[in-house]
Amino acid sequence: MAILRFKALDEISKREPFQHRSTHEKISSIFGIDVFDREKMRNYIPRDAFEAMCRAIDENAQLDRKTANQIAMGMKTWAIERGATHYSHWFQPLNDSTAEKHDSFFEPTFDGGSVETFRGELLIQQEPDASSFPTGGLRNTFEARGYSAWDPSSPAFLIGKTLCIPSIFIAYTGEALDFKTPLLKSLNAVEEAAAQVAQYFDKDVKEVNVTLGWEQEYFLVDEALFLARPDLAQTGRTLMGHIAAKDQQLEDHYFGAIPSRVSEFMKDFEEQAYRLGIPLKTRHNEVAPNQFECAPMFEEANIAVDHNTLLMNVMRSVARQHKLRVLFHEKPFYGVNGSGKHCNWSLMTDTGVNLLAPGKTPRTNTQFLTFFVCAIKAANDYGSLMMASIQSESNSHRLGAHEAPPGIMSVFAGSTLSNMLDSIEERITDKKMTPDEKTDIKLDIGKIPSILLDNTDRNRTSPFAFTGNRFEFRAAGASDNCAAPLIVINTAVAETLIEFKKQVDKLIDKGVKKDEAILQVIQKYIAASKRIRFEGNGYGEEWLEEAKRRGLENVQVATDAFKVFLRPENVALFKKHNIYREAELYARCEIKHEILVKKIQIESRVLADLATNHIVPTAIKYQNVLIQNVQGLKAILPDSYEELAAEEIRTIRTVAGHVKAIREGVHEMIEQRKIFNNEENLEKRAAGYLLTVRPYLDTIRYHIDHLERIVDDELWPLPKYREMMAIS
Ligand code: ADP
Ligand code: MG
Repeated sequence: MAILRFKALDEISKREPFQHRSTHEKISSIFGIDVFDREKMRNYIPRDAFEAMCRAIDENAQLDRKTANQIAMGMKTWAIERGATHYSHWFQPLNDSTAEKHDSFFEPTFDGGSVETFRGELLIQQEPDASSFPTGGLRNTFEARGYSAWDPSSPAFLIGKTLCIPSIFIAYTGEALDFKTPLLKSLNAVEEAAAQVAQYFDKDVKEVNVTLGWEQEYFLVDEALFLARPDLAQTGRTLMGHIAAKDQQLEDHYFGAIPSRVSEFMKDFEEQAYRLGIPLKTRHNEVAPNQFECAPMFEEANIAVDHNTLLMNVMRSVARQHKLRVLFHEKPFYGVNGSGKHCNWSLMTDTGVNLLAPGKTPRTNTQFLTFFVCAIKAANDYGSLMMASIQSESNSHRLGAHEAPPGIMSVFAGSTLSNMLDSIEERITDKKMTPDEKTDIKLDIGKIPSILLDNTDRNRTSPFAFTGNRFEFRAAGASDNCAAPLIVINTAVAETLIEFKKQVDKLIDKGVKKDEAILQVIQKYIAASKRIRFEGNGYGEEWLEEAKRRGLENVQVATDAFKVFLRPENVALFKKHNIYREAELYARCEIKHEILVKKIQIESRVLADLATNHIVPTAIKYQNVLIQNVQGLKAILPDSYEELAAEEIRTIRTVAGHVKAIREGVHEMIEQRKIFNNEENLEKRAAGYLLTVRPYLDTIRYHIDHLERIVDDELWPLPKYREMMAIS
């Protein structure tokens, strides 16, 4: 038993430092080297095909078969020159992973020879044998076919010897089975709506793009220790472990020096990222020991989402080369902060203007205010849906636990803008504005400083914080696909902008001047979304009370959150903007319930095994040592042993008490699992697992963690927190 743990520790002490290959290359010389980007396309495909491809990327134009063939040829030539032997459609199914099915370029010919081929139809469409991806009842196994289709707006890239082609993944019946399909639809919806509104201010704006800059948090653990912890290895989080004497209390890890072994790992994965065109910019330690963060420069949202999922894969594999494991679980260690993924969201015009950045003139500031207020209104109207979008079994350990916001939507605007919104609202009148009133408001708006990026005016407890030139959605979990919250934010903002434009146009039709019409609707929206604005501490108890008074919902229970998507108004919203069909929403809800059940089921099984096979026998072994000691004392000191062994006897009792509680807990947990396994209704089964089975994990761990502090360290079979949290 203890052998396992000491072998792991021994393994680490023997380890040679990882040999990092020294590169003296500049980042710019390797950036995007493994990506079939525009520059390479220009060299590898005929000019008219290249131009058609650019139109497909920039304007969503369709590609014909001939062009697709030409692009496929070019892609193949480039990839084979770089040593590729296989190609694969690369997509993001509805679990936490990415999927690929590799096919060889090599094809035998009738005459016994062979050629390397890759035709346009293979580029455009593939049929992965995909019966084992989550489908939520959309396909029965007889029809277990879905197909993947090329997304030309995200460039193909090379991983090792495989050409990876970003793709969407859909069922034969047309329903999306992935994150990318609805993401692309939601991007279309909001980009179209935003472009229309932006044209009030600048006729030259033809297109708007959503920009996304994510910040990815993660933990690192030494591989030998990771493998010696079956809970970590099988569930991604520790199901037991007493918190280390020193963890994050001194807050000395944040922005501290990065340990050299970790920085070698970072340099290595960053190099891979640069080769893949992922523009990583920052890296630093996070709050908890062994916790880190990386963030790129923001990009067009579809590409940023692909880059995030791709980077997570790269990090996993580079970590292994360094004999480390990277953890994206939202709460891998009890008692220290978990990991999130902040999604920074904004809108950028094709004229290069960030619509959420204040401008220098009253006109550009009115434009800013329009988009700013519409985003707040969207959060007000669809806040529950936004919070529901990031609820999951693993993220629910974090949300509302004083390290991440609870399931209540609120918007932080910062004092300058908050005062501005209040003063505009105060000037609301029912009648037509007088010229003076209009001038006053315009003057107000003109006063918005063009730079609001003030670090002192940050609120780190707000789920949707305005940070100077973008909104930062802070509730997403580290393992989430960024598309999950983005689909909802995009759709909600699209709806709000469309409605905004309708109301403005109506006023214009009635003869109100355009600028006044815009101001009037802005005023109305500010008043209508007042309750969602909150500048205080979003983690505090008082906020829960205050939010209740304001009528804001707390989407705190994961299984309830999944069903928020099925509320009639939300089904209607997604249908209206052509994001999801009703069947897709039901399927997704089912998948989330299923994943939750499976995750808790696995955790519960792993903990039961560990408790029964590792912990209880260890505790008894130690108890026997104590018993022998007491018996020995009794044999040689019969008169005074009771006094001398009082502490031992107490400990024997304590150990027995914990062992009993663990056994009972395991027994009851298994009985509860049986009950809910027999529950036919999936929603009820999931709620049972979450609310009845999962709490046993905490009760059992409570007793195990107490035993960990009592039992002889040499006997303890599993690596401890203090060992796992000490990469140096
Ligand atoms: P902080 O920790 O203060 O939030 P970081 O530098 O870690 O700041 O992260 C900021 C993130 O916001 C980066 O990913 C950055 O690219 C992104 N960002 C900045 N401007 C925009 C924008 N206009 N649209 C989307 N994301 C943006
Ligand atoms: Mg941030």
